[in-house]
Amino acid sequence: MKVKKKPVQRVKHVPQRTCVGCRDVLPKRQMLRIVRTAEGVRVDLTGKLAGRGAYMHDRRECWVRGLRGALAHALKAELTADDRSQLESFMNTLPQDTPTGTAETNK
Ligand SMILES: [Zn+2]
Repeated sequence: MKVKKKPVQRVKHVPQRTCVGCRDVLPKRQMLRIVRTAEGVRVDLTGKLAGRGAYMHDRRECWVRGLRGALAHALKAELTADDRSQLESFMNTLPQDTPTGTAETNK
């Protein structure tokens, strides 16, 4: 049986990117971009910085993994101590991975 009317829906050009932390592929807009600029490695919240970029989830787990080496590899750059501390402080603003979104009850 063939469905005629619907042509294979051309995905509306959603750029996909790979998270360097967990290697999942997701639409670009759901990712954070990290760029190697002349001043160092930065989190590119505007998505407009020029430079070699890499993408990661806004999940701390991915950042932890990425900072272990995958990010530097993706950017083809060494992370300086300064880069690293900037990335780490950004990482600390990210939510911890919560198992199933249940509200924290015991504090
Ligand atoms: Zn990830």
